[in-house]
Amino acid sequence: MAWRFALMIDPVAVEDDRTDFADTFTVIDPSAPALTVGELSTQRGDGIFESIGVVDGHPQEVQAHLERLAHSAKLCDLPTPHLEQWRQAVTDAAAACGAGEAVIKLILSRGVEHGPAPTAWVTAAEASDFAAARRDGIRVVTLDRGYAIDVPARAPWLLLGAKTLSYAVNMAAIREAKSRGADDAVFVSSDGFVLEAPTASLILRRGDTFVTPAPNGGILHGTTQLSLFDHLESRGFEVAYDTIPASDLSAVDGAWLVSSVRLAAPVVAIDANEIPMDAAFTASLNDYLLSPRD
Ligand code: PLP
Repeated sequence: MAWRFALMIDPVAVEDDRTDFADTFTVIDPSAPALTVGELSTQRGDGIFESIGVVDGHPQEVQAHLERLAHSAKLCDLPTPHLEQWRQAVTDAAAACGAGEAVIKLILSRGVEHGPAPTAWVTAAEASDFAAARRDGIRVVTLDRGYAIDVPARAPWLLLGAKTLSYAVNMAAIREAKSRGADDAVFVSSDGFVLEAPTASLILRRGDTFVTPAPNGGILHGTTQLSLFDHLESRGFEVAYDTIPASDLSAVDGAWLVSSVRLAAPVVAIDANEIPMDAAFTASLNDYLLSPRD
């Protein structure tokens, strides 16, 4: 992966009414050390992030990502991000991306241990090549997430609806899926309801209706899923949020893992069940996702 750009942000208060935030940004060398050893993002994973897809220099769905960053900050008791400041940082990062697909990451950390302020930065890098996953599909296994569907409401301190930097569990789930011969995982609650993938949302097709697990605090509300639901509705399909028993997964007419950078990866098998794949329809979804979206 080639780095394209990195920028440290000096976060301002949400009431700050300036219109140009350039003097709160410091462009840095993305391949050089930039954080101190007391940084709580690295010591404890104590912070939040967003990954924004970029196509030919256009950052996709920036507002939805900024709103989710603010939502995660609220859940984690981090200072409210000044959205216009972050938007300008995204614009600067996108300008460094050039042609092709790239990814911009926004990171807001608790800061340095015993230090006064959060640490914030933005990076841009070339995206991995996901052509094969988009075209040929992926095999997934269901994995127990280890909590019941009502846990997010009972234990908000688990931060299950926040996009925190603590992704070690998500990465372990992908390794487990690979060790079982699959490409990716779908988490299932301990009482048997479908949740999300470690780095993507799940969309299922039943006839002409597309359904996704309701973002009830236990999963992220995916920006790609939201955008695709708008698109599918504009094409005359029905879309719905639902509480989906895992036993329903064997009887769907199609399934996709969707996320900002890999986009729509059709699922060709869930555990031992083969899932129908419509290559032309999936290509139309990815054409939409690759078009400029605000
Ligand atoms: N769920 C999880 C746990 C994720 O990490 C992600 C993306 O990284 C998603 C869902 C999909 O979100 P988005 O479509 O905004 O990329």
